[in-house]
Amino acid sequence: MMTTPKPSAKTPDTAIYDRRESGVRSYSRSMPRQFNRAQGVWMHDSEGGRYLDFLSGCSSLNYGHNHPVLKQALMDYIASDGVTHALDLHTDAKTDFLQTFEDVILRPRGLDYRAMFTGPTGTNAVEAAIKLARKVTGREMVIAFTNGFHGMTLGALACTGNAGKRGGAGVPLSHVSHEPFDGYFGDEVDTADLLEQRLADPSSGLDAPAAFLVETVQGEGGLNAARPEWLRKIAAIAKKHGALMIVDDIQAGCGRTGGFFSFEDMGFTPDVVTLAKSLSGMGLPFALTLFRPELDVWNPGEHNGTFRGNNHAFVTATAALREFWADPSFADDIARRGGILEQRLERIARRHGLSTRGRGMMRGINVGSGEVADKITGACFDEGLIIETSGAHDEIVKVLAPLVIDDETFNAGLDILEEAIAEAIAPVDDADTRSERKLNVAA
Ligand SMILES: *Cc1c(COP(=O)(O)O)cnc(C)c1O
Repeated sequence: MMTTPKPSAKTPDTAIYDRRESGVRSYSRSMPRQFNRAQGVWMHDSEGGRYLDFLSGCSSLNYGHNHPVLKQALMDYIASDGVTHALDLHTDAKTDFLQTFEDVILRPRGLDYRAMFTGPTGTNAVEAAIKLARKVTGREMVIAFTNGFHGMTLGALACTGNAGKRGGAGVPLSHVSHEPFDGYFGDEVDTADLLEQRLADPSSGLDAPAAFLVETVQGEGGLNAARPEWLRKIAAIAKKHGALMIVDDIQAGCGRTGGFFSFEDMGFTPDVVTLAKSLSGMGLPFALTLFRPELDVWNPGEHNGTFRGNNHAFVTATAALREFWADPSFADDIARRGGILEQRLERIARRHGLSTRGRGMMRGINVGSGEVADKITGACFDEGLIIETSGAHDEIVKVLAPLVIDDETFNAGLDILEEAIAEAIAPVDDADTRSERKLNVAA
């Protein structure tokens, strides 16, 4: 089995990109290769190099690249002239998806949600969720949280914390209050209690919200994982104050944190859930907003979109639900692999006096600054490991390996990360020479 990356040394000519592609491009800057093939956990470039993918399309490729079962389902569908585009018309592919989603995901979890097919990006699912909350409650204000990331269109961007992203708006981003996420003031302060106190105080200046919009683990905001008891409190506060609780499960869902939904077994049920990223299973654009049936106050076409029925994505999403989620042992598999990740990151953190973040297969390590994190991810890329950063200062190196990675390859990738961190940061007990650092690593 192939377990080690083999990066190519050469940066191909990027003149066409420099000349024609907008400066808004981002990931391609730190990974200047030309990729041409991808299979499982591997990406290949035009020079014959291979790279281990610990980014997984920011968790859009939880089942790896071009999974053979998903790919076959799509090829069969295309070969039979299955409908590709049908606005929101009923199609075989759409029926199969809804039926399978009901059978494999909703029923076994005792969840009763209506599915709204939004435009195919995550940000559109968030737009739909907050529009719905405002329509249902007749209120304007949404409570979002520090370090939250919810997308780049104006409504979702207003709920996003990051100043750099917000700066692109060009108009005031309004009708959102950004409240401290769990742990924002350290372990001693329960930010849900502070929020409750202000909402209960008619003189606090905090308006009654339409919704609370929250990620259970903040994907872009630094892999901060909310405690289940904090999330239960937020759900209770929402209920008490007549607001909807929206869980943005676009990155943390679809198995990334263990279950299909990131809030499973936490003792609360969100009113609204957004899904995208790995929902199609194959990296095809596909987003969903789920909500309690009583909340379905939409008029026909009130949140429209040309691409609300990506039939190819229905086909691969259905195949993914059958292939992975019909068998409950898949979640156990993720938990076991998440345990390996936790142990290895904890060991690295202890050695270098760092701290870890996250949950399940969505974890990272705080290396102190964006500069150090860049150095580490750059060194990893030079060794053929694709890995990225997260957090307010890009100071968290985040591991988003495919959920289906085998242990040997997973450990080989983590070895590269461990080595890159050892090169960049001295161990806590001796900051001296490289050979000593190596000794320390072996110990
Ligand atoms: C990626 C992401 C979004 C936005 O999804 P896009 O498809 O990029 O629009 C929204 N919320 C969360 C939590 C995300 O990780």
